[in-house]
Amino acid sequence: MSFSNEKSSMIQKKLQMNGVNVQSEINIDQSLKHLSQEYAKMFSKSGYNHFPKIDLMKNDTRSDQMIMINNIQFISFCEHHLLVIDGFSTVAYVPKKYIVGFSKISQIVHFFSKRPQLQERLTRQILISLKTILDIEDVAVFVRAVHYCMKLKTQDGSSDVITTELSGSFLSNHSLKNNFFRSCYSFNKGG
Ligand SMILES: [Zn+2]
Repeated sequence: MSFSNEKSSMIQKKLQMNGVNVQSEINIDQSLKHLSQEYAKMFSKSGYNHFPKIDLMKNDTRSDQMIMINNIQFISFCEHHLLVIDGFSTVAYVPKKYIVGFSKISQIVHFFSKRPQLQERLTRQILISLKTILDIEDVAVFVRAVHYCMKLKTQDGSSDVITTELSGSFLSNHSLKNNFFRSCYSFNKGG
């Protein structure tokens, strides 16, 4: 059902009589100007220029099994609408010569989520940085996130978005791949 102009102006008049002036409630120009300044301030202070310092440790135990960090929580902003992306990431790798501290992997996820993002790009950036830092091929990244722009548009609070990036034996070894995804879906709390 749609309101006629007449009805809508009647509603506005009644609201005004009760002290609610819809026209002047929101000064959209001023709000947008203020908002753009706030976003510029926030992203310039976000620390995106400083990639976390990662110290490599020798893989003394010669572990050649999957190491997985589950449910790394992050908050980012979609670059199309500058609205919140609220998600979790799970990152796994099979070490060769080196390993990294577990918290460093969380720091990598948080570093790339500090800028306006696309979830697809965030997932790939995590993968590529870990491959490069550890000089390995076998890396897997799973990201599950709620996009508030999508929530606003669809009024659907239950949808989330899953992206994955796999390389090396996570692509070619089916049992490794299945183990990774089984863990992601059984532990991941996103959504
Ligand atoms: Zn968006």
